[in-house]
Amino acid sequence: MKEKISWHFCDHCRGQIPVLDQGYMVEEKTCRLFCSESCIVKYYDPLIDLLANDEKQYRKKNNINEKLEISEAKQRKLLSSVLEQPDEIWSCSDQLGCEYFFQIKKVSTQPTWMILVCFRFKQKPSFILHHVLTHSSQMMQYYQKGTLVTQNEEIVDDQALTNEEIIVPEKFMEQVESLRSSFLASILSKRDEQDIPIEDFHLFEEYIEPTISQPEEVFEYEDKSGHLVHAFIRDFEKMDDCFFYIVLSLKLDPTMQPAENRLDDEVFIPVLAFPTIDEQLYLSFKKGICLTRKAVN
Ligand SMILES: [Zn+2]
Repeated sequence: MKEKISWHFCDHCRGQIPVLDQGYMVEEKTCRLFCSESCIVKYYDPLIDLLANDEKQYRKKNNINEKLEISEAKQRKLLSSVLEQPDEIWSCSDQLGCEYFFQIKKVSTQPTWMILVCFRFKQKPSFILHHVLTHSSQMMQYYQKGTLVTQNEEIVDDQALTNEEIIVPEKFMEQVESLRSSFLASILSKRDEQDIPIEDFHLFEEYIEPTISQPEEVFEYEDKSGHLVHAFIRDFEKMDDCFFYIVLSLKLDPTMQPAENRLDDEVFIPVLAFPTIDEQLYLSFKKGICLTRKAVN
């Protein structure tokens, strides 16, 4: 057997790696070797920043301002689906031969794409440098760099992302953020000491969706700052206790969305959602125009 030398060092911390098997490689075409996952991350950190910045610049230059509101758990689910079953994989090398991969998948018919910029090693993604979620086909095409190496039949995994998860313009989200603090302050000033504590509000998040989709009452009113607020109200029972769930929302202005993504349905973005057992607090939101009348038995 031919003798092989093993003088290996970590490309980040320069620590010696006596046994090659103990090292990590993420790129196929270079000899970069690392002693640990944390050294990989630190080594590629400038590249990760560069890609994040590049996305920001491209969005700014082309006026693609969008912000997708999805949970971290959903993000992770999407990531693994694009890692394992991308629709397309593009490959592009730099002048020194370092090869980058762009895995693209349409994750919703709306349409929405997720794009991963990554390295691949032994035909598998080995390290994610950046990911992008977008409604814009122009943005998606920006990442179709180099040559198309794999193309799967386009099967839209609608389970991955439902149409309810829509892209909200940044300007609108800024309004929502600032209103949230003023709503919260106003509720805190009115609330009863015996009411459900604010620390427990997160335990009731599962009631947001049913309250918006099947409210018992909806009131439309203009708040002090001139915003048209929709209060969705429904009562629930949890462990034999009855409570009202109130979702204060803003209606998404369709003209704020890019034409190709505009939805026909009305979309309400929750600003503040909270449970209450205080009838007075509940009654304080019954104002303005009543859009749905509570069924009278
Ligand atoms: Zn190291």
